[in-house]
Amino acid sequence: MSPDPDALDVRRLSVTYGDVTAVDAVDLCVRAGELVALLGPSGSGKTSLLHVVAGFLPPTSGEIRLAGQVVADARRSVPPERRDLAVVFQSYALWPHVSALDTVAYPIRRRGAGRREARDQAADLLERLHIGHLATRRPAELSGGEQQRVGLARALARNASLYLFDEPTAHLDSHVREVFLDELATRQQASGAGGLYATHDAAEAFGLADRIALLNRGRLVQLGTPQQVYEEPVDLWTARMTGAVSRIRAAVTEASAGRWTVKVAGQEVSVDTSADLPGSGSCDLLVRPGWARLGGDLAGRVRTVRFRGDHTDHVVESAVGEVLIRQPGPPDHAAGDDVTWSLTRVWPLGQTGAGQSSMPAGPE
Ligand code: ADP
Ligand code: MG
Repeated sequence: MSPDPDALDVRRLSVTYGDVTAVDAVDLCVRAGELVALLGPSGSGKTSLLHVVAGFLPPTSGEIRLAGQVVADARRSVPPERRDLAVVFQSYALWPHVSALDTVAYPIRRRGAGRREARDQAADLLERLHIGHLATRRPAELSGGEQQRVGLARALARNASLYLFDEPTAHLDSHVREVFLDELATRQQASGAGGLYATHDAAEAFGLADRIALLNRGRLVQLGTPQQVYEEPVDLWTARMTGAVSRIRAAVTEASAGRWTVKVAGQEVSVDTSADLPGSGSCDLLVRPGWARLGGDLAGRVRTVRFRGDHTDHVVESAVGEVLIRQPGPPDHAAGDDVTWSLTRVWPLGQTGAGQSSMPAGPE
């Protein structure tokens, strides 16, 4: 065993229910002090994966190690209470007869704090999550969102080596959600614990994760930093799951490290890219909304304009396809306007074929 084992190490892990494969040969590790977001749509296997790691379900095959120790494989499965975990799942699972304050104070006392100190720390956590005034209430006297916050406070109060979260902010107002995410980041970094955080919300994953693991139908399709998965998605599905994207078809006429010349409707344009040298001929290029600008040498016509508060999204029709262009501030064009635009960065779509070609082109 290495001196500093990963908080979680999952190898070739599969979970099947009858003939449904919910988790398909996933390899994934979470380092000590690292927060990994498990990002995928509903039904992609997030909950199944977390349940197996927590010990609520045995794996169909594969192996799970927590802090270097095997807790589940083909022969054995250590029960949940003997895994050093703090979990917040979609159901809050609070003790019905225990007040919010005592619920949160309990794990602090178990860590050896005195009664007074545990209650003070618990009160402080409840206060931060804006439920300090509900400290004496029992679960039946709390709304769903309030119960969820008690469950979150209890998890934050635990001193586990791995935190597991299953879409824990689903019922929270955005300001409480921010407070919780800040609190989680601070505590988790301070304690050196690992975290695995399931969400279907890319913005949430980007805001909190050190790395993002993309799950598509039970398969781990990409694992990387938020910037990697945003700028270098392995395929169109991943690109769409991680934000808005357009797809254009263009020929790369010249390529050097970090910079390509691409031919867009007869015009040669120099763009940034982190991709390796391309194959010859035309290829599909992904363009994020910030990788194109209004104004420049390329011709287009505005199809739609959407004002979104701090920025405006324009869908521009061009000879190479529709491009979503995001500009700060309010709109200064209307649908139907002829405009010029420019391209600043691209990422080539991998030629991984099957399934992708049937997806519609254009911005999401
Ligand atoms: P997610 O949390 O990403 O929404 P789940 O892990 O809940 O995904 O589900 C993954 C797949 O497994 C889905 O196709 C779902 O219908 C199926 N599934 C989940 N739980 C069960 C179960 N107990 N029995 C049969 N199929 C299940
Ligand atoms: Mg789920």
